[in-house]
Amino acid sequence: MEISQLEFMKHLLRRKRRVYLDHNATTSVSRGVRRAMDRTLRNCYGNPSSLYALGRQAAAALELARARVAAAVGATPEEIIFTGCATESNNTVLKSLTEHFYPKKKQIIATPIEHPSIHNTLHYLESRGTTVAYCPVDRQGRVDLQALDKQLDRKTFLVCCMLANNELGTIQDLRAISELAHHRGALVLADCVQALGKIPIDLPALDVDYASFSAHKLHGPKGVGALYVKPGSPLKPWLHGGHQEEGLRAGTESLHNIVGFGVAAHGVDRLLGRSRRILALKQGCMARLKQIHPKCVFNSPQHDCLPNTINVTFPGYSNRELMAMLDYHGIAVSAGSACSSSEDKPSHVLTAIGLPDEQARQTIRISLGHDTSAGDIRYFLRRLRKFLHGQAVHVSMLTVAELDKQMLDDEETWLLDVRPRSLRQRFPSLPHAHEAPWSEIHNYLDLIPRDKHIIVVCQGGYLSFMIAWYLKAKGWPRVSNLLSGIAGWIKQHKAMYQEVAGKNVQVLTKK
Ligand code: PLP
Repeated sequence: MEISQLEFMKHLLRRKRRVYLDHNATTSVSRGVRRAMDRTLRNCYGNPSSLYALGRQAAAALELARARVAAAVGATPEEIIFTGCATESNNTVLKSLTEHFYPKKKQIIATPIEHPSIHNTLHYLESRGTTVAYCPVDRQGRVDLQALDKQLDRKTFLVCCMLANNELGTIQDLRAISELAHHRGALVLADCVQALGKIPIDLPALDVDYASFSAHKLHGPKGVGALYVKPGSPLKPWLHGGHQEEGLRAGTESLHNIVGFGVAAHGVDRLLGRSRRILALKQGCMARLKQIHPKCVFNSPQHDCLPNTINVTFPGYSNRELMAMLDYHGIAVSAGSACSSSEDKPSHVLTAIGLPDEQARQTIRISLGHDTSAGDIRYFLRRLRKFLHGQAVHVSMLTVAELDKQMLDDEETWLLDVRPRSLRQRFPSLPHAHEAPWSEIHNYLDLIPRDKHIIVVCQGGYLSFMIAWYLKAKGWPRVSNLLSGIAGWIKQHKAMYQEVAGKNVQVLTKK
């Protein structure tokens, strides 16, 4: 291997420390959960609806998991329905109740900071005639109870309010919200996805009518959720088919996932026992962030907040660049909900609490977990400090919307398409692109100008990111990476792509 290639491979394969600070997006599957799931897959493959021994064994495992999930939230097993995810739980309640109350009652009141699984379902229902009112929240995302009380009327059949917000960590006074709603004859759906495993949950005390949960937020598997239904509350199945889950959720149960959820829920007390340590780490991290960058602004409330969540704005710094820089150093943080991270919009939660778009785009969420160490936080702070104090190189991030026709035609722009030839043939490059495969880029360095704005693109935006950093480390002054790559660009600019794809493309020839 020649020196330049060796050096290039070393750069790409450089072992990085991995620091995961995005526990509100998802969590790792715990060893206990993995083992239980593996045992279920191997030994307990019967259908829980079958009457023979293997089926009965599966049914027993299902009921044990149900009892464990119920116990973790202060409910009884009969009140818990397993679903495919919390998104499904939320959809089921919203759509089923809309139908149930139609045409007598047509209004749903929701907070403007709900998760997309609520928000986008509400948009869908709105397009079909439901009225949706959003109750105001304060600068930290707390519901204005007086305003909510005024909004509730005889047409309101449901109030949707999450127990803890996924971006800010804000914990709502759900007991008071339930009281107001019930007083006006409305039911309450509480999205408790972020709360489970982070704060104690006692559903009877909160007096909500429905609550949704997801296993993957508490070290369980992805693809399984739960729905709590208070006895006597109306609910119709969303999926029709078999009689599973008391006829409320058809489809053969995903037993290994459900068992995994049960084991994760069984460990909730242990998780809660660690929340003090996490809170101390979080507070230490926040104090240090303020020292490193005194202008940073915390958006989460000081009290009534999840112990693991920090939402912080760094005026003057784009969150995309911050995240990309941290990602390069093996650190995972996010700009908001993972479900909307591919959208090129500022977080709806941050705009709802009054942050201008610009500040929302300068905000990141750091969410700690029980496996976060003090060393992880120190490493994160060190990398961030170097960046904020101008002691680290950085690559700019371009969205597919920013890379418009004008930029493509700009003489200053030099587009470098690093996709392998097979992909370049299937999806022709953007106009004026220079093509060179990423795996051999070290052979083309002499051909890449240093006085232009280099925009590196690949199919999905990941390999180009590595190459952009490589060029930056090699001294190119202006280097950007196209987020979401050509695939994302085609989606955004379909008509333009058909018109200009492959025009004036230059295949670089090795030195
Ligand atoms: N609600 C909240 C508050 C969430 O944070 C999430 C996950 O990000 C969901 C709902 C959706 O959960 P699931 O991934 O199980 O559909």
